[in-house]
Amino acid sequence: MMKTRISTEWLSGCSGCHVAVVDLHEKLLNLLDDVEFVRIPVLMDEKGYPEAEVGIVEGAIRSEHDRKALLKMRETCKTLIAFGTCAAYGGPSGIGWLYDKDSILNKIYKETVTAADDGKLPEGAPELEQSVTPLNEVVDIDFFIPGCPPHPYYIALAIKTLLGASVPAISMKTVCSVCNRQMEKREGVKFQRGMSTAPEEDICLLSQGVICLGSVTLDRCQAQCPNKGITCAGCAGPSMDIITEPHLDIRTMIARRMSLLTGIDQKEIQEYIEKEAKTFYSYAISSPIIYKKPMVEIREWAGN
Ligand code: SF4
Ligand code: SF4
Ligand code: SF4
Repeated sequence: MMKTRISTEWLSGCSGCHVAVVDLHEKLLNLLDDVEFVRIPVLMDEKGYPEAEVGIVEGAIRSEHDRKALLKMRETCKTLIAFGTCAAYGGPSGIGWLYDKDSILNKIYKETVTAADDGKLPEGAPELEQSVTPLNEVVDIDFFIPGCPPHPYYIALAIKTLLGASVPAISMKTVCSVCNRQMEKREGVKFQRGMSTAPEEDICLLSQGVICLGSVTLDRCQAQCPNKGITCAGCAGPSMDIITEPHLDIRTMIARRMSLLTGIDQKEIQEYIEKEAKTFYSYAISSPIIYKKPMVEIREWAGN
C-alpha cells in the first residue's frame, strides 16, 4: 500500500506544535507504517517543498518568509491543516498585532538595554510584515487543529481520520464539558485577581471567584488545567458559539456567568478582563473572529 505523504512547515510560532508531533511517542512509530514524512523541520533537513497528500503548518504569518512558505505549502499539499492556535488564530505571537512593525523593531533592537543596534532586523533576517495574520486569511485551509500545542490525542485522531480510519466523533463542546468541577451558585464570594490559594476540590473555579476561560474555550485538551486545579487560559482558542455568533464575546460571557454564580458585580469582572485584555484574549487577539466583533475594543483595552 502507498504511504500517505505528510509535509510540515513551521512559521512564526515557538516550534512547540512540532515538538507535540514528536510527543506522539510510540503512536508516531505506529503511524509510520502508513505515513511518510517528506518534510518535517523538527526531524529532517529538507529545504524544498515536496508534493504531499497532507500538509501541516504551525505558526502564524509574521514575515515575508512565512507568507511565501505558506503559499508553497498550499501549492504542494492536497489537504492543508492549520496546526495549533498560532496557525488557526495568530496565537501568542498574535499579541504583535497590537503594535506596528517599527515600534516592535525599535523596542527589541534599539530601546532594550542589551540592544546595541539601530532598530533594524539583523542582516539576512526575513522582512517582517506589518502585522500577524492567521493562515486562513491568506490561503484556504481544510482542517484546523487548535491547541497550544495541540494535544497528542487530537493529533493522532486527525491523522487517523485523514488516513480513512473510523474514529470517534470529535467534540465541538467547551472545556467545561469535560471538566470534573461543578458550577455552584454561591453568595458573598470575593473576586480574586488570579488564584492566590489552592482551589477547593470539585467546585468550578468561577464559583470560587477566579476567572477560568473553560466555558468560552473549545475542548481540545480534555480539561487538563482545571482538572488539576489551574484555570483555563483559553489556549485552544474560542468555543464554537464565540466563533459562529458575532454578538458573543469572551468578556461578556465570562463576566455574566461568573456574576450569576457568585454575586460579584458583572461590571467589575468586565472591567478587569478589559484591563488584562492581553492575557484574556492572548490566544486569538489577531484573529478577525475576535477583533471584528462589534463590542470588542481590544486596542483600546490594551492601551494602544
Ligand atoms: S500554538 Fe503554541 S505551541 Fe504551537 S507554535 Fe504557537 S505558541 Fe508554540
Ligand atoms: S469554568 Fe473552568 S472550572 Fe468551571 S467548569 Fe468550566 S472549565 Fe471547569
Ligand atoms: S484547559 Fe484551557 S489552557 Fe489548559 S490546555 Fe485546555 S484549553 Fe489550554
